Amino acid sequence: MPVRLGDDIDDFCIKCKRVMNHLVVSILGDAPAKVRCKTCYSDHDFRHEQAPPPKEKKPPVPKVLAALPSVDVLDEVVTEEAQEL
Ligand SMILES: [Zn+2]
Repeated sequence: MPVRLGDDIDDFCIKCKRVMNHLVVSILGDAPAKVRCKTCYSDHDFRHEQAPPPKEKKPPVPKVLAALPSVDVLDEVVTEEAQEL
């Protein structure tokens, strides 16, 4: 059965991060080209229910860690406290 505009179709929604019910809003040939999520109403290319590949991105170094004193400074503090005891 050919897909028609306005048909219900399952597809992976990027915003909902799961396979959701979609409406076909654009057709290319016999296949849906664009779909609209019926839950969040965002339009996107039809992705055949495939989740996008996870982005391999190194997490940024938190500024909090960069602001901490170096290990050497911490060592000095510990040593001084030990001498007072
Ligand atoms: Zn959605």
